[in-house]
Amino acid sequence: MQSPRAFNFSAGPATLPISVLQEAKQDLLSLPGLGISVLEISHRSSTFDKILNQAQDNLRDLLSIPDNYRILFLQGGATLQFSMIPMTFLRNSGKTADYIVTGAWGKKALKEAKREGSTRVAWTGESDNFTRAPLTEDVILGKNPAYAHCTSNETIQGVQFKYQIDTGDIPLFCDMSSDFLSRPIDIEKYSLVYAGAQKNAGPAGVTIVIIRENMLDKVPSDMHTLLDYKVHVNKNSLYNTPPVFAIYIVMLVTNWLRNEIGGLEKMSAINQRKSELLYDVIDRSDGFYRGHATPDNRSWMNVTWHLRDKDLKTTFAQEAQERELLNLNGHVSVGGIRASIYNAMPVDGVQALSDFMVDFQSRYS
Ligand code: PMP
Repeated sequence: MQSPRAFNFSAGPATLPISVLQEAKQDLLSLPGLGISVLEISHRSSTFDKILNQAQDNLRDLLSIPDNYRILFLQGGATLQFSMIPMTFLRNSGKTADYIVTGAWGKKALKEAKREGSTRVAWTGESDNFTRAPLTEDVILGKNPAYAHCTSNETIQGVQFKYQIDTGDIPLFCDMSSDFLSRPIDIEKYSLVYAGAQKNAGPAGVTIVIIRENMLDKVPSDMHTLLDYKVHVNKNSLYNTPPVFAIYIVMLVTNWLRNEIGGLEKMSAINQRKSELLYDVIDRSDGFYRGHATPDNRSWMNVTWHLRDKDLKTTFAQEAQERELLNLNGHVSVGGIRASIYNAMPVDGVQALSDFMVDFQSRYS
């Protein structure tokens, strides 16, 4: 390997672009001209103000986010959004919230909503072992729900929506944690989008929330301050000390996406190509490898598969590790292998894994 770095197929926190790590390394001693490091600056400083604004500008540009949406950097992970959303928009609404459940994360989101009020399952793939996403016509929305909720990419199962659900006037909230910034989206289909940064946007510790301004009118006046979207909007994510370093890395990653990759159209073409390298090996393996998700819903981010001989899984992961292909064990609930190939995973890494898969099959089939 030319680089001293192994290829990290972890589902998250995940691999970051090398140029981002290099720039962060430099700034860790001193930000240019400042004499102190990015880990030591005040969140009220003009330096951090520029970082925050740049990160927001980058996201607005990459995702073509119109002015009537606000971009927040919150803490508590995507998991806190599972709670903040129903606490804000379901509790005391007298309405029901509709959940489209395509995997383990959607199920967790639903579990928290149930604490706050009435919920409906508008579609679930549980009886199929979460191997697919619904067609538009399969999603049965209730009459006038408070909102509908979906998960664009289920990280554990490797099931991804290949189209964007259109719920018309019903506010649509989407957990995009594991495919955020991996492809262009039409943000106007959503009233709220959220994503933990630690897959495609940065390190763990910050969650990006993009919220349509008209949703802020629905925030109850008695929300706890730190759980209040309106407060975070009014204070530009600076009500309390934000995760300064994580936001700084989000700025660098989104700079990289804009300037080195050239935007989300380009990123998405690369991601599709990378995933095809692995799905092709699976499909040509005569059943030696078996994909978990149905072909129409195969994730470009988390490629999940089983080995025909389940006992070979440990050997596969071990031998891969010896070749510096790391963290390929599937999630315990699904088993098998999972290769997370987010934006920052280079094509070379995916090619190395695909070559290894072919070689492994030739030796063990
Ligand atoms: N949703 C999805 C789709 C995820 O992949 C994850 C994390 N793997 C979460 C939610 C939970 O995120 P966090 O750990 O940031 O709370």
